[in-house]
Amino acid sequence: ITIRDVTDARTEELMKQDFLSLMSHKLRTPLNVITQSASIIRKENICGPLNDKQKKYIESVLRQSRLHANLIDGLLKFTELNTMKLDLQKEEIVLCDYLPLLVNPMIEGIKDKKIELKIDCPDKCYRIRINKSHLDMIMRNLVENAIKFNDKEVIKISISVKKSAQELEISIYDNGRGIPAEDQGKIFEKFYQIEKFFTGNVAGAGLGLALVKRLVSVHGGQIDLKSEIGKGATFTVTLPA
Ligand code: ADP
Repeated sequence: ITIRDVTDARTEELMKQDFLSLMSHKLRTPLNVITQSASIIRKENICGPLNDKQKKYIESVLRQSRLHANLIDGLLKFTELNTMKLDLQKEEIVLCDYLPLLVNPMIEGIKDKKIELKIDCPDKCYRIRINKSHLDMIMRNLVENAIKFNDKEVIKISISVKKSAQELEISIYDNGRGIPAEDQGKIFEKFYQIEKFFTGNVAGAGLGLALVKRLVSVHGGQIDLKSEIGKGATFTVTLPA
């Protein structure tokens, strides 16, 4: 029998989480003030008309503050999911109804990219019992990544569902750049991002996949990746049926 004292490791982990949580809140409050003030200036009805140069700069302030807010929200969500006891209240989800309802509005909201989406859910009765907000986060993160890390003229995304007696598999394929073999084991670690020269200058904090992995594992499942550079990537989430 080997007994290992993990008190120090656990204390360090808790300190990191407290720090992260405190920082996120301290950053979010002033950022809200910046965004609200910039929006008021941009509307021109309170502070007066803007010239073209002023419009350009204030729009840049707004764009960057939105990106920043998304990053901080990601940090907050991640901290919360890692420190709080997760609500595992499950509900039954019929996947062939659920998937288009979740993914279509995401795709429709993106105007500057051409996206072809295919959802292959062969049996209308494929159902799963899971916490819906967790499944939403899992799917949103994977679909967002499939779009984000893809500079093809036509972005192709295929979502397919398979079910056996014990397991349900949801796969998300994209025709993007793919993920180098040496990074495939690391991208599920928090804050890990592949070098910018490879993925392009894309917003993110490297928390999405760590969050997905955590959510999948609290539901007793796993996530796998198959990818080759230039041939896209397929993430497969396997959950108990
Ligand atoms: P973020 O999206 O915030 O960078 P993630 O944890 O979601 O963080 O992803 C980690 C890294 O894995 C990304 O920075 C990206 O380099 C790589 N990655 C994730 N999904 C894909 C994908 N579908 N295609 C190519 N690379 C990806």
